[in-house]
Amino acid sequence: MRPTGKLHLGHYTGALESWVEQQNLTNEAGERVYETCFLIADYHNLTTSLETGEIYANTLDMLIDWLSAGVDPEKSPVFRQSQVKEHAELFLLFSMLITSSRLERNPTLKDQIRDLNMESLTYGHLGYPVLQAADILLYKGNVVPVGEDQLPHVEITREIARRFNNLYQHPVSGDVFPEPAPKITKFARLPGLDGKAKMSKSLGNTILLSDSPEEILKKMRSAVTDTRKVRKNDPGHPEVCTVYSYHEKFAPTDQLLTIEAECRAGSLGCVDCKKLCTANIAAELAPLIEKRVYYEARIDQVKEILLAGEEKARAIARATMHEVRAAMKLGETNN
Ligand code: AMP
Repeated sequence: MRPTGKLHLGHYTGALESWVEQQNLTNEAGERVYETCFLIADYHNLTTSLETGEIYANTLDMLIDWLSAGVDPEKSPVFRQSQVKEHAELFLLFSMLITSSRLERNPTLKDQIRDLNMESLTYGHLGYPVLQAADILLYKGNVVPVGEDQLPHVEITREIARRFNNLYQHPVSGDVFPEPAPKITKFARLPGLDGKAKMSKSLGNTILLSDSPEEILKKMRSAVTDTRKVRKNDPGHPEVCTVYSYHEKFAPTDQLLTIEAECRAGSLGCVDCKKLCTANIAAELAPLIEKRVYYEARIDQVKEILLAGEEKARAIARATMHEVRAAMKLGETNN
């Protein structure tokens, strides 16, 4: 995740919740199924903004959201891209393995250019997925739990891994990289309050994980619903309603069925429906907010967690780069 500050519900439903699930997944013998690593993509921030003044504060804010949602630094190292220099090194090597026309066809890039009204594109922004491939493959990631917008990037990562393995083999272990698979949640593209396809900080249509129930209700009042439901008793169409898409995630099943039936029948008005939705979201976020208060009062502990994660990440990244250089016969040849 890029350190853009406090996280919103889309980050949570599309990625963070799934991260914690994979982190805590155990088999019948009680052993963890995955080793998990979580990256703070601070270099990636520079693809769309060269303002760096807030980047450290935003990093800590985001990390507090991660810890509050259940990321356990004992199980999962958390670290910044910029503090593990191997990310830059592998990015450079990978940039030789993909054509610029392939990167220009990336649909996520096209969406970003449209959403941010960008007139021109930097070389670094075009290479966004190449850096992401380095982020994933340095740790030999097999599974990448991401939101829908990241699927094209995981596909490019697979292509780069395949190309590397075809060109270069490690003298002992053969293939250096796995071909990672994306892991998508049911809510891999949470819409924004304005009804736009994606909740996103840059579109200003978010509910934050740290928002109080009052703030959520205030934002929810502005949420776009079914435009054909003008009066309270008009029948509604949940399938086109943003608020209903939040209900699908946050309402208990029984309540969801009632909401759907009453909306269609015209007996549930949008104001009451939004209040219900606010209550359910606030209930889900309450434990996160409680932990946020804990970590905000212990910011030195948060900083130490990051430094410790970076030590662990460096050791893994260094080992992978030894293999890469051996396979490519760069420097450490013939061993
Ligand atoms: P980013 O802002 O690109 O750093 O996003 C971090 C993670 O959150 C990625 O896996 C995204 O796919 C995911 N994400 C961001 N916004 C949303 C959204 N509105 N719905 C679902 N997932 C999202």
